Amino acid sequence: MSQFSYQNGVLHAEGVSLSAIAEQYGTPAYVYSKAQLLDNFASYADACRGRDALVCYAMKANSNLAILDLLARQGAGFDIVSGGELLRVIAAGGDPKKVIFSGVGKSVEEMRLALQHDILCFNVESIPELHRLNDVAGSMGRRARVSLRVNPNVDPKTHPYIATGLKASKFGVAFSDALATYRAAAQLPHLDVAGIDCHIGSQLLDDAPLLEALDKLIELIDALGDEGIHLHHLDLGGGIGVDYGDEEDGAPVAVADYLGRVFARVDAWRAERHAGRPIKVIFEPGRSIVGNTGVLLTKVEFIKHGEEKNFCIVDAAMNDMARPALYQAWMDMQPVVQADGGALYDVVGPICESGDWLARDRALAVKEGDLLVMKTAGAYGMTMASNYNTRGRAAELIVDGTQVHVVRQRENPADLFALESVIK
Ligand SMILES: *Cc1c(COP(=O)(O)O)cnc(C)c1O
Repeated sequence: MSQFSYQNGVLHAEGVSLSAIAEQYGTPAYVYSKAQLLDNFASYADACRGRDALVCYAMKANSNLAILDLLARQGAGFDIVSGGELLRVIAAGGDPKKVIFSGVGKSVEEMRLALQHDILCFNVESIPELHRLNDVAGSMGRRARVSLRVNPNVDPKTHPYIATGLKASKFGVAFSDALATYRAAAQLPHLDVAGIDCHIGSQLLDDAPLLEALDKLIELIDALGDEGIHLHHLDLGGGIGVDYGDEEDGAPVAVADYLGRVFARVDAWRAERHAGRPIKVIFEPGRSIVGNTGVLLTKVEFIKHGEEKNFCIVDAAMNDMARPALYQAWMDMQPVVQADGGALYDVVGPICESGDWLARDRALAVKEGDLLVMKTAGAYGMTMASNYNTRGRAAELIVDGTQVHVVRQRENPADLFALESVIK
């Protein structure tokens, strides 16, 4: 059940009306539901209960400290893609020993920081990265646990910008090079070969490509075992989609069903060929934990009737939510106060770019001053926000029952140029 629902014709986040929130905290604002976040995490945690498994939330989807803290308290680990994200985990009280470090371009400084904090594992994506990590670990008198991100070459059938597991992708080690790369890793004195990893794409509605990737990882684990390289964990990455409300797409697979199928395959494989060897299963979900946890609340500034189109100009823009401009993503736009009738509008922001649109050809009954929400905006919303046009980023709020907490203040323009100076 969604924690965002109409009560007497007014959209609420849990027990608080979004009209009241707009009045008190202003717009644009990201509004998150604590209960929805905890429900989403529980769908993973419950399916993992009693198993050797770890859910590492992919925090690039939404890295607000309050979100990280709530998840850490539920036992979540974190999938990070930068040193900055590791500092956020620590600031939020998360456990670095449950952190997985992904990404194709880790710097020496980032490796050192992660080793200092003794993170669980580095997901390594190339041979030069193995060598750099080995050198950094050696210089610190430490050993780095590594897994290789292999590219299983399965088609996730998603947007090309968020498909990451195909042969032409910049990510991962080619499946055909994986054995040789593991042999190279096993020779390096300051590395411990710990696991195997993949992440084939994002916003997957069907789990068949993920299960295909799982089969390929299992094949490699068997082949490595035959050579005496024994892995301790298998990490399937993230990628489960959310329901953006677009009828063409439909709803994604249920998390419990997907995890059930993963564990059934892992159990069958272990019973057949991998008896007696423990293997931890790791997931790196991002979007499916936070996507439907948040909405972007915005106010109508002007209605403009153009020659061919009607425009609903709102106070949120592509700097607040980049997905439509970046991926032509379809996101649901709904009024805070339900109304009948209306006309077709393009919902656009104030930024000086034709690419600054949030929704196109939507039937809306709107007038100046009305409030709208962009739904399912909790993932890749605020984390992709920018200050383009010297626009301060939106406030972030978490609703818990009837309470509203400001978890990030709205940025002031003066903050945006505080690090700048003129030359003397
Ligand atoms: C982005 C990312 C994820 C999370 O993907 P979602 O589609 O949001 O679940 C997981 N792992 C890696 C390596 C990523 O880059």
